[in-house]
Amino acid sequence: MSRRKGAPRGRRSAATSRPVAQGAAPLAPGAPCPCGLAAYGDCCGPFHRGASAPATAEELMRSRYAAFAVGDAAYLRRTWHPETRPARLDPAGPARWTGLEILATTGGSAFHSEGTVTFRAHWADGDGTFGVQEERSRFVRVEGAWVYLDGAVA
Ligand SMILES: [Zn+2]
Repeated sequence: MSRRKGAPRGRRSAATSRPVAQGAAPLAPGAPCPCGLAAYGDCCGPFHRGASAPATAEELMRSRYAAFAVGDAAYLRRTWHPETRPARLDPAGPARWTGLEILATTGGSAFHSEGTVTFRAHWADGDGTFGVQEERSRFVRVEGAWVYLDGAVA
């Protein structure tokens, strides 16, 4: 998942802007993981902390969604392929990511070196608008670790 690249700064008013680099308060380990699978401390939390690494492309996808949700820009950068990683992350995301649905996967297992994940990411904004972003993301391994390569809006 990538936020739209090249969106102008200041697109949102200061009151509703929630820069991804600022982040929210860290989630408690017992809080539900934003990706919806389990408790944060048993799900994407260890990936964000660097305590372990996703074994599959889907796990990386989930953890990147969760990183968007908690505002962990450093994790988003280090799990982005060096050749496609933007110079800086677009800070103008929605106010809240509210849910993730995995629709389909190809490859991406512990035995693959590439894979795709098709998903729907639900979001809500401070002004009451909400929506969904559907994307097919491509993932590859760099030195053994899954990274996000790019994505196409489905
Ligand atoms: Zn998770």
